[in-house]
Amino acid sequence: MNWLTNFVRPKLRALVARKEAPENLWTKCPKCEQMLFTKDLEANQSVCTHCGHHMRVRPLQRLPHLFDEGKYELHPLPKVPVDPLKFRDMERYDARLKKAQAKGDGATEALVVASGTMGGRLAIVAAMDFGFIGGSMGTAVGEGLVMAAEMAVARKAPLIAISASGGARMQEGILSLMQLTRTTIAVGMVKEAGLPYISVLTDPTTGGVSASFAMLGDIHIAEPDAIIGFAGPRVIESTIRQELPEGFQRSEYLLEHGMVDLVVHRHKLRETLMRLTALLSGPAGAESRALAAPSR
Ligand SMILES: [Zn+2]
Repeated sequence: MNWLTNFVRPKLRALVARKEAPENLWTKCPKCEQMLFTKDLEANQSVCTHCGHHMRVRPLQRLPHLFDEGKYELHPLPKVPVDPLKFRDMERYDARLKKAQAKGDGATEALVVASGTMGGRLAIVAAMDFGFIGGSMGTAVGEGLVMAAEMAVARKAPLIAISASGGARMQEGILSLMQLTRTTIAVGMVKEAGLPYISVLTDPTTGGVSASFAMLGDIHIAEPDAIIGFAGPRVIESTIRQELPEGFQRSEYLLEHGMVDLVVHRHKLRETLMRLTALLSGPAGAESRALAAPSR
């Protein structure tokens, strides 16, 4: 052992090294660029305490704020073939999946399905996770949404989809495009059963998700200033070679043009969902009885 390099140098380095602050202590607001104390930001549901900008939030952080007393049950997604095309771009798809799962707080895919009560009324929530491979929709997300819809029908509960997606999962090729049809049929089942289907659009809701179940709600709620559209503004601009109007594809613009029904602050989302599900479901009773029934 070299005493000088292995012992003295590391000790010296530790002495003179700057004590780094823990990595996630501060978060910079992408809108107003204010540095925010991460704990305060989380307590505020990831809404900037300075300018009110709604930052992207992962389902497991969002769900406790939606259900009564923050309690809900998570439902594992149906098993699907992993990497059916043995796809590889810069990285192998199965490796990419594993990496995303390691960062996913236990979530296995870009969709989380949960059930619980909102204002005493059972609701099924399917929430997407933009932090998981861009919230892209592959077979697992499609299957998960079908499961959530079947659960809503079996338990006579409203279905609430919270979308945040860059579109179809390209690594699954045509299989990911098939999910557009499957999720469309799934929400159709909920409507046929006379149950409410509410779509909550968060930043960003684009591509295949906006081209399927996200735009088929009985009611569309958008979070403030979210990007909602099919292709991004840059793609459209370079295709039509025209400048797009101010605020194009943002929630408020879509509200003005009749594409969404409500723009709701994240702090008001729970109470809005409670009010809407109550209005659309009629008298409570059937749902609470269904609470005791098995999920599938
Ligand atoms: Zn801000």
